Amino acid sequence: MENNDSFIQNIVAKEPNPALQEIGQKVLHSQRILPSEGLILFEQGSLSYVGALANWIATKMHDHKVYFNRNFHIEPTNVCLYSCTFCSYSRLIKKRSDGWEYTMDQMMDIVKSYDGKDVTEVHIVGGVLPQYDLKFYTEFFQQIKKHRPELHIKALTPVEYHYIFKKAGVSYEEGNENDQRKWCWILAWRWC
Ligand code: SF4
Repeated sequence: MENNDSFIQNIVAKEPNPALQEIGQKVLHSQRILPSEGLILFEQGSLSYVGALANWIATKMHDHKVYFNRNFHIEPTNVCLYSCTFCSYSRLIKKRSDGWEYTMDQMMDIVKSYDGKDVTEVHIVGGVLPQYDLKFYTEFFQQIKKHRPELHIKALTPVEYHYIFKKAGVSYEEGNENDQRKWCWILAWRWC
């Protein structure tokens, strides 16, 4: 640990940008950084500098332990209204017959197929289609929680949130507030 400490102290001391060095000192002294300082790190910090600080904190807090959960995935559909250029996952609406569109019952069957299995989370992400709206996901998540209350739900990408909130005529804040009152709905990222 001491070697790690001198290593990171050296990196911070040699950082030529005074603002980054000051933030580094705060990190070394376990002081919480401000959102504005996070922005400075994002805009001005090199990947190696930010990475070294992050790794030092992680190692200090958790040593070399790595944590993971046991989850299963549900992808409601691979058909999507959008056509992001990097996406190799989705089928366009005009090729809808090439894809799948699960009903709520079909997805609950997937959830139930894990009954008795040692899983802690269901991860739900898919394409964007009108039938998968706020009402649909509200009911779906409530059904999951009713069936298996302890199961953590991690669901939907930012683009899915954007679409369903816009379609429902609610702001991000209203959608998330509504969400937090009723179920556990955590923003998830998917690389596709
Ligand atoms: S990345 Fe997501 S939103 Fe974009 S086309 Fe693929 S499934 Fe649709």
